[in-house]
Amino acid sequence: MKKTTHQHSLEQLVSLCKRRGFVFPSSEIYSGLTAVYDFGPYGVELLNNIKAYWWKSMTQLRDDIIGLDSAIFMSPKVWEASGHVKNFSDPLTECKKCHTRLRLDSLLEEAGITADEKMSEEEINQIFTDNKEKIKCPVCGAQDLTPGKKFNLLVHSNLGNFTSDWTKDPTYLRGETCQGIYVNFKNVLDSTRMKIPFGIAQIGKAFRNEITARQFIFRTREFEQMEMQYFVKPGDDHQYYEEWKKIRWQFYLDLGISPDNLRWFKHQNLAFYAQEAYDIEYRFPFGFKEVEGLHARGDYDLTQHSKFSGQDLSYLDPLTNQKFIPHVVETSAGAGRIFLAVLNEAYQEEELEKGSRLVLKLNPQLAPIKIAVFPLLRNKPELVKKAREVYDLLKLNWRCEFDDNGNIGKRYRRQDEIGTPYCVTIDFDSLEKACVTVRHRDTMKQEIIEIVKLLDFFSKKNLK
Ligand code: ATP
Repeated sequence: MKKTTHQHSLEQLVSLCKRRGFVFPSSEIYSGLTAVYDFGPYGVELLNNIKAYWWKSMTQLRDDIIGLDSAIFMSPKVWEASGHVKNFSDPLTECKKCHTRLRLDSLLEEAGITADEKMSEEEINQIFTDNKEKIKCPVCGAQDLTPGKKFNLLVHSNLGNFTSDWTKDPTYLRGETCQGIYVNFKNVLDSTRMKIPFGIAQIGKAFRNEITARQFIFRTREFEQMEMQYFVKPGDDHQYYEEWKKIRWQFYLDLGISPDNLRWFKHQNLAFYAQEAYDIEYRFPFGFKEVEGLHARGDYDLTQHSKFSGQDLSYLDPLTNQKFIPHVVETSAGAGRIFLAVLNEAYQEEELEKGSRLVLKLNPQLAPIKIAVFPLLRNKPELVKKAREVYDLLKLNWRCEFDDNGNIGKRYRRQDEIGTPYCVTIDFDSLEKACVTVRHRDTMKQEIIEIVKLLDFFSKKNLK
């Protein structure tokens, strides 16, 4: 009997990611760049599959949602209108002993004290003063932290500014992708036949000067968001908000995440314009944390952009002739956080009769490689030739990998660790009987399949 262990640490995930080419620290040969990561050969496939899964479910399968890819750089006015220049900040504190910079709201929360990054500087410092004896520097243990000071998270650049004091007039790297959706609302209305209610979806990079960058790819300074803004008639917000809560929850179950590892978190401290805000949280090795936010934002964003741009961003209902600024229900997920959740969920160590194995039981649709093809022996040209033929046949339809390195057992272990659902081995029987051995990742069972039936066999496996 095999025994399965689901308990593992973040360090074990980080180690697998490095060893098997999922995630590397950015610029590693120069000692890395804090809170920035690169996705390696298998990581990019997994990430692309997660994004494709989201994109398909949010656009292709929905008649009421269309896509967009807006630029990372936007007019600085966008960020004034959205409130980011003034308010997009976290409370920064510094340890007076070791000079580590930390987020005060996170430190308070970790000590079990209710706090929120949206609180004003005065509010959060009052809570800090009341609980000073409970808050220590997590690095050196000193109980000597400075009061919190709001630190703006927008990343600045000198794009298009050729003066030496460009810092006074920066262009920002976008802090969230949804602003690109708001500012294109009118363009989309004018160029398509979308009628309210409808949504605009976008996947893209966002940048934040995060103060505390810990927990691997959970919190990075460059990351990817998958956001959808759903525009509704004022008053319909709650109904659509409830619908989107159900749809977004189901998305995580469809990815293969156990409902035991998911929960809702209701925000109590809402922005003044927000009507409702919940997060979907996943149980990471370091506890339950946000993977996606769902926000009922009212008409705040379109109203602000109407005011600041002087453009009319209202909608004229063709049936009732009513004119109004649509309200927005937003779903906002992080691709990197989902990547980490999916990896954590799939990671299993199994005790076998002989030895043990580490296997990623990924949803096959997300697996970086769908099928690995092996010639039994690399020094038998006739086996290698046949295996190449099979590989060339399969790779037209699925992401495959050809591997003739080491013994078969080792090749299986390698594919298990990257989550490949099927391995196909070509042996001497294959030459005689035109058949192959297909090995299943999860059960390790093997079955013989005729080569002419392979395409049909894998077509039924829901691999993408
Ligand atoms: P947090 O409270 O963890 O800082 P947030 O509430 O600021 O997150 P949102 O602004 O709602 O996050 O962004 C939507 C989604 O974008 C988040 O649910 C998360 O998945 C992702 N995200 C936000 N910041 C980061 C980051 N620094 N690194 C990776 N993903 C992020």
